Amino acid sequence: MRLKAVELQGFKSFPDKTHIAFSDGVTAIIGPNGSGKSNISDAVRWVLGEMSLKSLRGSKMEDVIFNGAAGRNPANYTYVSITFDTAEEYAAAQAALPAAGNEPSDGEQARPRPARLGDGPEVTVTRKYYRSGESEYYINKRQVRLKDIYELFYDTGIGREGYSVISQGKISEVLSQKGDERRSIFEEAAGISKIRYKKLESERKLRDTEQNLLRVNDILSEVAVRVEPLRKEAENAKRYLVLNEEKTALEITLWLDRIDKLKAERERVETSVASAKLELDTATEALDGAETGLDSLINETYEMARDASETE
Ligand code: ATP
Repeated sequence: MRLKAVELQGFKSFPDKTHIAFSDGVTAIIGPNGSGKSNISDAVRWVLGEMSLKSLRGSKMEDVIFNGAAGRNPANYTYVSITFDTAEEYAAAQAALPAAGNEPSDGEQARPRPARLGDGPEVTVTRKYYRSGESEYYINKRQVRLKDIYELFYDTGIGREGYSVISQGKISEVLSQKGDERRSIFEEAAGISKIRYKKLESERKLRDTEQNLLRVNDILSEVAVRVEPLRKEAENAKRYLVLNEEKTALEITLWLDRIDKLKAERERVETSVASAKLELDTATEALDGAETGLDSLINETYEMARDASETE
């Protein structure tokens, strides 16, 4: 992997689009004090994801945008692109591809995955920043997250944390550090940071898991206390269901019995109504007979009285 080119526009003292090609061997940028040499290394660190305003020599992110000069208006945005030759990584990735017939299916290929070095013979990373505060990041012109850029360069030693870009005064700062601190700096530069990061991540996950385990144990003991009363409650509930069923069956039997009794009572009442009706009919007949007898007696009496008066 080799630095191939840097292109910047609107970055600090570079209002115009400027393309700097890095050929094989040594490339030197020479200029008088304050002509903007360090701005180029700032641009390189910035495009690789540098967020520290101190190391970008500014007080706010907007300070990286060209601020205007005699006869030049300030820029509204800046962008920096950095291109690496990744032919070696690409060749290695091609060699590691699955043998013919074992390639992943189309569906698997279509699944988006973070960009990796070796995806192509070169990789271009771009960072854009607007005065409004908006940031955009691109890998090979495809918009990505800042995280994707960090991950792209993670174990290469050239990320924002790497020491592949050493600014003015950094070497004396490094040499004046204590042995332990120096060691960590060399580890960063050698690209061991990823392994250390993974170790820290694993330790963090382990701590989280231990905490989760403690919580699970707490929950288990809480639950264990409630198991016995709950078992009793469950037994009671089951017993209630059985008894309730029995009660319903008994109630049905009682109702059926009552219906039978009411039916018998109705039949008995119907029978006595029928016999009373019969007696009523007989009595009505007798009454009719008596009334007829009475009428003829009255007639006889009347005739006898008439006969008696006629004889007088
Ligand atoms: P030295 O050798 O003294 O370190 P240098 O060549 O590395 O200098 P830099 O420090 O890269 O120079 O550049 C400083 C110049 O960049 C200054 O002239 C400063 O005015 C200019 N500059 C920095 N930020 C901006 C900005 N946002 N807009 C316009 N010019 C800027």
